[in-house]
Amino acid sequence: MADYDTVLIRYGELTTKGKNRKDFIRKLDNNIRGILREFTQLEYRRSYDRFYIRLNGADAEAVKEKLQKVFGISSFSFTERVDSSLDAIKERCLAIAKDSGKRTFKMITRRHDKTFPMNSDGINRAVAGYILENTDMKVDVHHPELELRVEVHSGDTYLMSEKIPGAGGYPSGINGKVLLMLSGGIDSPVAAYELMKRGLDVEAVHFASPPYTSENARQKVLDLASMMSEYNQGRMRVHMVNFTALQLEIYRTAGDPYAITLMRRMMVRLAEQIAKESGCLAIGTGESLGQVASQTLESIACINSVISIPVLRPLICMDKVEIIDLARRIGTYETSILPYEDCCTIFDPKNPVTKPTIKKAESYEARFPYDKMIAEAAEAAEVITVHPQEKESFL
Ligand code: ATP
Ligand code: MG
Repeated sequence: MADYDTVLIRYGELTTKGKNRKDFIRKLDNNIRGILREFTQLEYRRSYDRFYIRLNGADAEAVKEKLQKVFGISSFSFTERVDSSLDAIKERCLAIAKDSGKRTFKMITRRHDKTFPMNSDGINRAVAGYILENTDMKVDVHHPELELRVEVHSGDTYLMSEKIPGAGGYPSGINGKVLLMLSGGIDSPVAAYELMKRGLDVEAVHFASPPYTSENARQKVLDLASMMSEYNQGRMRVHMVNFTALQLEIYRTAGDPYAITLMRRMMVRLAEQIAKESGCLAIGTGESLGQVASQTLESIACINSVISIPVLRPLICMDKVEIIDLARRIGTYETSILPYEDCCTIFDPKNPVTKPTIKKAESYEARFPYDKMIAEAAEAAEVITVHPQEKESFL
């Protein structure tokens, strides 16, 4: 029986060198330890291009599930550690091969320790020969049923047969902080995932219009944030903004066709202010080009013109089916489709303008003191920090 007692982790997107590489690895180290903190028996060690975790009896399946949520990991394997001696490597590889129940195999050896007396090819031949002598298995270098990997380091050698894909991307937080506009819909949690994957630390802002939007709608947003927080170093700050006064005023002054345009212009102004106050260098949204009236290029231009902070729109070129597929994979879809009203659905205009002009939007805005109302709404925003919910698996 193979005795998998160590997880070997391969770093993702490590094209950077020098200080950036150091920062990448340090942050990844920190995020891995953070997500696994409940497993107190684990022991950690890192090398130039690998990270190792001794399980010491921890539940491998539970550790695997957590590691798949850590950005910056390209892949990982459960491995058996043996002493770096050819005899030990041969014996344990044979045990793994026998245990696998597979008929064909291929050896893949990497010799990190160049002082080991045999090169990779020599090790491959010696081990494969030993397995051929002692089993009915055959070598198949093109389509093997079993890939037996051997990594030789100076004291320890790691043997493994499975490579589990990691989440890829950059370690959460390494590329700074972004303020995501989080609605209760399908798109914005997926946008959060994509931004986190690029190594951004995500804070969220949500605009609610009580009593027109309910406590359930608010809780749904917090639940989504809590699901996403597991990818975000185990926490997410959510700025809850009361948008009711502004929304009512917009409907009173602008009426139906321009209501959504003005609402979005107000939302991004508020988001820009909150972003600056909380150290976020950009705003994120779940917009996808052409999806609805407020996401035509004319609308985006008209909305974007009131702010100067960069806006990141990771879903801009994605189809709805692709977005839904990703929402299902990250586990937010079922929550997103719960039928609780959003501030946009309540005041849902019947004929939203698809080609708004800046001039017209400005002429409506000149009719009420939105600056003052934005300042008041930002001032009164509530900040809630959420964490992953216990015992729930989101993948
Ligand atoms: P989503 O599924 O993310 O709600 P959507 O397809 O419903 O997106 P819109 O309602 O037009 O599209 O919203 C576009 C983007 O504007 C959202 O992805 C989100 O980033 C932001 N947004 C919309 N409503 C809110 C809100 N109430 N609070 C915060 N952000 C919002
Ligand atoms: Mg929406």
